[in-house]
Formats: sequence, C-alpha cells, structure tokens
Amino acid sequence: MAKAKKIPLKSLIFRGLRKKCPNCGNSSLFLRWIHLYDNCQECGIRFLKSQGDIWAFFLIFDRILLLPIIAGIYFSFMPVDKISLVTFFLVIISLFLYTTPHRYGLCVALDYYTRLRWDKEETDVNKESGREANEQMSK
Ligand SMILES: [Zn+2]
Repeated sequence: MAKAKKIPLKSLIFRGLRKKCPNCGNSSLFLRWIHLYDNCQECGIRFLKSQGDIWAFFLIFDRILLLPIIAGIYFSFMPVDKISLVTFFLVIISLFLYTTPHRYGLCVALDYYTRLRWDKEETDVNKESGREANEQMSK
C-alpha cells in the first residue's frame, strides 16, 4: 500500500467525465460500457471500496437529465404533434444512454475525492494485484 497523491477536484471531475482513472488519468475506468474495473491498470488504486459507495452521487447525476423534462412541464412545453413529442423523448433517452458512462465516471471520481479527503486512511494502491484482478475480469 502506498499513499495516494493529492489531486485538485477540478482534475478529478475532468478525469471522471473522460472515463479515466481519477488518480492518474491514464487508464480507462471501464472494461465495457459501464462494467467498472476493480483497480486502475496504471497506478493500481481501487476504484470503489464497495459497490454501494457511489449511490448518493449516482442518484444526483442520474436525475440531472430529468431536469429538461421537469422544466418543460413547468414552462408548459407541449409538443404540438406526436412527432415532436417522440423526438423530444428520443433525444432525452439518447442523452441518458450516451452520458451514462460519463456520469458513472464522474461519480467514481467524486467518491475517490471524498475517500482522499475524509477517510484519513491510505487509499488502496496495489499495482500487481490490481492488474491480476483486472486480467481475471477480462477473461
Ligand atoms: Zn490510475
């Protein structure tokens, strides 16, 4: 175990949105679409201590895409015909699906930030076991 370095929140957010490791910014967070690696392949940090760690962040960033719908209802946006209505919902659903890994990456980065800031313990950094675990996941 090694001590993880301090990283500014802005960098962590940017790395998370790019679906990269919040610590080093080089390795990908995901094996497939939203299938998260356990550890970083470059620096070896453990992305999540346990699977439920990011639920609060995910709840917030999952609901952000509902804001256009709520705003539309609030400002009495009513599509004039069925094509407009279908197009509106297709755009919302497409945005939701396209941004899911980015939002998930952001949640992992914010969780990592809270661990660095408030846990006061050393973050799991184990390069070798991280690579082995990730190789087993890819098989
Ligand atoms: Zn890394």
